[in-house]
Amino acid sequence: MNTKEIIELGDKYLMRNVGRLQLAPVKGEGALMWDADRKEYLDFVSGIAVNNLGHCHPEVVDAISQQAKKLIHCSNLYYIEPQALLAKLLAENSAMDKAFFCNSGAEANEAAIKLARKYAKIKHGTEKVEIVTALNSFHGRTLAAITATGQPKYQKGFEPLPGGFKYVPFNDLDTLEQAVGPATCAVMLEPVQGEGGVNVASRYYLEGVKMLCQEHGALLIFDEVQTGLGRTGRFLAYQHYGVEPDIITLAKALGGGFPIGAMLATDEVAAAFQPGDHASTFGGNPLACAAALAAMDLLLTGGVVENAAAVGAYMYDKLVELAGKYDYVKEVRGLGLLLGIELKIEGKDIVNGCREKGLLINCVNNNVLRFIPPLTITKQDVDHAVGILEGVMGNCSV
Ligand SMILES: *Cc1c(COP(=O)(O)O)cnc(C)c1O
Repeated sequence: MNTKEIIELGDKYLMRNVGRLQLAPVKGEGALMWDADRKEYLDFVSGIAVNNLGHCHPEVVDAISQQAKKLIHCSNLYYIEPQALLAKLLAENSAMDKAFFCNSGAEANEAAIKLARKYAKIKHGTEKVEIVTALNSFHGRTLAAITATGQPKYQKGFEPLPGGFKYVPFNDLDTLEQAVGPATCAVMLEPVQGEGGVNVASRYYLEGVKMLCQEHGALLIFDEVQTGLGRTGRFLAYQHYGVEPDIITLAKALGGGFPIGAMLATDEVAAAFQPGDHASTFGGNPLACAAALAAMDLLLTGGVVENAAAVGAYMYDKLVELAGKYDYVKEVRGLGLLLGIELKIEGKDIVNGCREKGLLINCVNNNVLRFIPPLTITKQDVDHAVGILEGVMGNCSV
């Protein structure tokens, strides 16, 4: 089918729950993707920070096909070798001890909220239930996750929402100090807010958050669904800050493109889950874990994280240089290869202009261009992308 035919079919039979671009990808390799009309794109969206190793990494493809021939699914009624190995790998590369596997970021956060509530019940009794999250956060689309998400646009129309959530401005320690108290069960934050506009937490803030959590016996949850797994130039973003949480959630890049999510916790906190407390039919099945094991092995041993740090710093400088040429740019910010340009104008014309010229980027909060390329890109890829961006941005004005 060509692009037009695929779009017609989708419009007829798919729910219109997302706003889609008029683009139908059919093939990907590394940082490149092709649509059904054979047009080539340099992909700086990466399936929204999923394809950290690029599209269809041969070793991930191989791990998936090998495992698919052996055992695709069997249930968590049993022990699963690749699942146990993946849990070990994540524990050894983080300050966490134990893992629970699910299928998405929202589910990982849902599990984190349940674990934090259960832990508080056991340790502190029934009053300690509140979860404090940040304005402009994004934690996913289940009912609890949209409630944790401090953006009314994701909640509107779906009320009544689950109770016990409180919101504070991001990077503002004073308001957090007022919001946290004896009823606080957990504070849940992204070290860098992705969907909320590429907002980087300051070290001062996260250190202060940790102190407040300790003072009030509240758990610290880092949602690293987007920032984790090399994206910011460290394996996990919290490692930039030296602030260790009690729970970490992961998904997006974990399976090298295959759907899998995880919630990690310290031994002490993880012990609050007893057999029967939480589960997922597909969560951590053999196929997903084999894909994730291959992807994480490549990430940790292939110099990919180091590349993200180096090329990310290079790209940041290039974007700052570019931004200086246009008075409609407000700020360039980000960490590693999670970068954003905040504009004083809407970003959608730039996104569309880049797409026409073969570069995929996206825009968050209407006015922040976001760059989340594969972590394997080269400086030449960055030069190519920035060249296209410059061509498009030169035609815009306030
Ligand atoms: C994408 C994202 C989620 C939700 O993940 P899904 O897999 O879409 O459920 C949660 N938190 C953050 C920080 C994200 O970027």
